[in-house]
Order: sequence, then structure tokens, then C-alpha cells
Amino acid sequence: MPKSFFASYRLRSNWGLSSENVIFSKDLYTKATEENAGIFIMPTLSLTDPLEKNKIFFRIKLVEYNSDRTYIAVSRPLSTIPKDVFSLSEEIKRIGNIPVFASISGGPLSEWILLLEKVDKKFDGIELDLSTSYILQSMKRGFEHFALDIVEELISIASKPVIAKVSINLPLNTDFLEKLVSAGVNGLVFSSHPIYTIGKHVFRVHSTVFSRVILRIVASLATQIPEISLAYISDEVLGKRDDLLDIFNVVLYDTSYIFSKISISRYSPQISSSLPIRWDEVPKGMKIALDTLKGDICRNICPYGAFRPEYDGGFTEAEEICDYCGLCFSICKDSVKFVKSLKPD
Ligand code: SF4
Repeated sequence: MPKSFFASYRLRSNWGLSSENVIFSKDLYTKATEENAGIFIMPTLSLTDPLEKNKIFFRIKLVEYNSDRTYIAVSRPLSTIPKDVFSLSEEIKRIGNIPVFASISGGPLSEWILLLEKVDKKFDGIELDLSTSYILQSMKRGFEHFALDIVEELISIASKPVIAKVSINLPLNTDFLEKLVSAGVNGLVFSSHPIYTIGKHVFRVHSTVFSRVILRIVASLATQIPEISLAYISDEVLGKRDDLLDIFNVVLYDTSYIFSKISISRYSPQISSSLPIRWDEVPKGMKIALDTLKGDICRNICPYGAFRPEYDGGFTEAEEICDYCGLCFSICKDSVKFVKSLKPD
């Protein structure tokens, strides 16, 4: 894997994990470190989760799956729990010497500044997620001007390199991108993930088909803007044969990396359902349990390792480490269910 230079850092490889990952598992980042990842951009932090507080909702759903190169998944942006990200980034720092960037997204300027103050000293760089800011910022008209003001202001305050993330939810035109570069960003991250909202429910679509098409669009745009570090968030693990990758310094992964580690086809050769219109809520006081008699193999599906291998026979409650990501419900839905916990809280 060739070395790469990105946003003032020389990286040991040209790939990493993106801020659009919603699985905060230490095992996942440890595995990526062992496999020579060059950079981690931590899941995006915001002050606002649009869904109700004090309720738990799933964060990821696999909608369609034929192979790791043909799938559609949906994740829930703005669902990151800040304490999870801070503790995970500290763990990562202990594992290896890899640049770890924070990612932040706000509505009004005051929110951005508050978030920047929380992360500025603790991370090696800051990603400004303009793509979800569009959702948090109710005044959507004139978003480009608003975004440029935010970027200029935060660059003047930050003590670390600042990069900006844009997606196809924003008007992707060379004028806007050039202005971001002129504002002084150290790099641009292009996300291939469209976002749709239904009421307060926000959905980010990860699709290998979109990813391929948008890579081509973004590659055309990228050749027209001044030279700057560029990263692309891809939904399939790209091989060296992809010439388009020459344009980007770094390729970032999220679902594609998770799915390649899980080997989904071992559990469910094919998955097909409709795109969600709301996120499933975890009923209060309920835990997730696996029927090991029906789906013993599914104990390996959890990216957090919540189903311990030593359990056998009948329903087995997920360990406390389960953070209700919801992935097991997509992949092993016949063998997982909610159960009333009999343990005292
Ligand atoms: S047990 Fe299921 S919901 Fe809980 S963390 Fe694991 S995969 Fe996610």
C-alpha cells in the first residue's frame, strides 16, 4: 500500500476509516491499525441528535446485500455519542501512531465554536462536516455563503489542520470548492453518501452503485480545482487497478470495511428489504438476545463482540458492550430478538 501525504501529514498508507462510520468498536479500529490504515477520521460529533433524547434508536441497517461489491446500507448521521468517540480515540492513540482527526458538524456558528473547543487540543486535525451541517442549519437558502463563513472563522481559531467534508447533498460546483480552498482548508473529503430525512429521522445511504458513479463525478471536479489534499469516501474496497484513485491522496472506508470484516455472506447469502422510513427504537428495558440454537454462527456478527463464544443453547443476552447499533437485526433477523432483561439495572 503506497504511502500518502494528506493535510500536512505523511501517512503510512493511502487508506483510512471515515467519519461516516457509526460503529464505535475498538476491535474495528484495532484491526484497521493492524492492517496498516494511514488515518482515522472519527465519527462526526454534533451537539444535536434530531431524534428524541432518552430513547435508543438503531444506527445502521443493511437494506440489500448480494456481495461486498453490491450492497445498499443505511446509517444514521448525527447519532454519535461524544463520550464514545473521545474514549475510542484515546484507545486508538495507545494502539498506534496514526493521525486521528475529529469530525464536527453544527448549525449556528456558536455550536461550531463550542465543538471546536472540545476537540481542538485532543486531535491531530479537524474535519468540518458541511454535509450534515446542511441538515442542522435550518436556514438552507444561501448555505454556501454560510458554510464559507463557518470555514473561515474556524480556520482562524483552530490550532490544527482543518479539512472540509462535502457530499452530493450540497451543490457540488467548482466555484464552491475553489472558495473552500481559498478559505484555507488543508484538504477536502468527498462523501459518496446521499442523505434523506423523513421528519426527524435522518438516513445516510451507502451504496456501491452510487459510490462508483459519484467517484467519477468527483474525479472530474477534482481535476478542475487548485492542488490540495483530497480524500474520497468509498463504499467498496478499491483495488490498485482503479486509475481514478490516482486523483485522491486517501480513500476512506466505513460500511465497506465493516462488511468485509464480518463476511456477511456466511450468515445471509442475500438480503433484500425496502429503504427505511424511520429508525427502529429499542423498547425501554429490553436487551438483545441471540437464539444460538437457530443461528449459532450469528454470534460472530457483532462488531463489538457482544455475543460471547462460551454461551451455548437457547437465547443468550448480548453483553453490556452492545451499543444497539442494530446490525445483527439486519443480518440475522431470524435468530435475534428483544428480551426483557432479568438482571437488575
Ligand atoms: S449485539 Fe447487535 S445491536 Fe448490539 S452491538 Fe452487536 S450487532 Fe449491534
